[in-house]
Amino acid sequence: MAERKILLVTGGSRGIGASVARLAAKAGYRVGVNFVSDAEAAAGVVREIEAEGGEAFAIRADVGDEKDILAMFEAIDERYGRLDALVNNAGVVDRKSRLDEMSAARLRRIMTVNTVGTILCTREAVRRMSTRHGGKGGVIVNVSSMAAELGSPSLYVDYAASKGAVDTFTHGLALEVAAEGIRVNGVRPGIIETDIHASRGEPDWPREMTSVLPMQRAGHPDEVARAVLYLLSDDASYVTGSILNVSGGR
Ligand code: NAP
Repeated sequence: MAERKILLVTGGSRGIGASVARLAAKAGYRVGVNFVSDAEAAAGVVREIEAEGGEAFAIRADVGDEKDILAMFEAIDERYGRLDALVNNAGVVDRKSRLDEMSAARLRRIMTVNTVGTILCTREAVRRMSTRHGGKGGVIVNVSSMAAELGSPSLYVDYAASKGAVDTFTHGLALEVAAEGIRVNGVRPGIIETDIHASRGEPDWPREMTSVLPMQRAGHPDEVARAVLYLLSDDASYVTGSILNVSGGR
């Protein structure tokens, strides 16, 4: 039997990342469940995976901090000696605001976690996966947002821009490493039922938005996770540089 693949999911403790971690473990991956503050939630995801016969471990790192990122990848090196897949899912948003009300600290946080964090984690993955560095190839999936297309005026143009940058990075890097055994793709979730809405002070947002959503409902984290699992899988062996909208049409 082929050795089980190693997957790191950033922000795997809750929401979309936790769904990715659970479904990936069911599909046979050994899963690194990254978190930044909610150790109990990450431990809960690991326990659920283990209860189903899967393998996972929780790993704390702030993807907004390069030192933490380096330590996280070194911990995976020590544990498994390789990495086959990375899902850049960790992300933050902030309160509804116009640009003229936004502080520099807010802008830096959004860009540092969502954009720079994604790029630095990917750099570490490429250093391990690329055939140019003696690696065996691998797959990267970046979790973007429909905000990148919609722009999110009067809501959070900073967040939208941070995800737009992730999309451009996905396209460019996919071409840069296409001949080195690495596929790079993205997903753009629409409004999904997770804690992220409460984190910006609007926990009921998914319900409040149903009337403007084409399917008249928000999405479930598993519906995004299934798209991520497809992009990770060999079924997507000729898919790279693609970004799949998982948004119920908007
Ligand atoms: P969520 O429920 O708020 O969960 C966020 C996850 O990211 C948690 O596991 C959290 O860890 C982790 N995280 C936050 N900051 C981090 C950092 N600096 N370093 C490492 N981990 C960090 O979010 P979600 O809704 O599942 O969102 C996941 C991704 O989907 C994000 O990139 C988000 O932008 C994107 N997205 C979500 C929606 C939506 O409607 N939900 C729509 C479009 C795109 P802790 O548990 O330790 O806090």
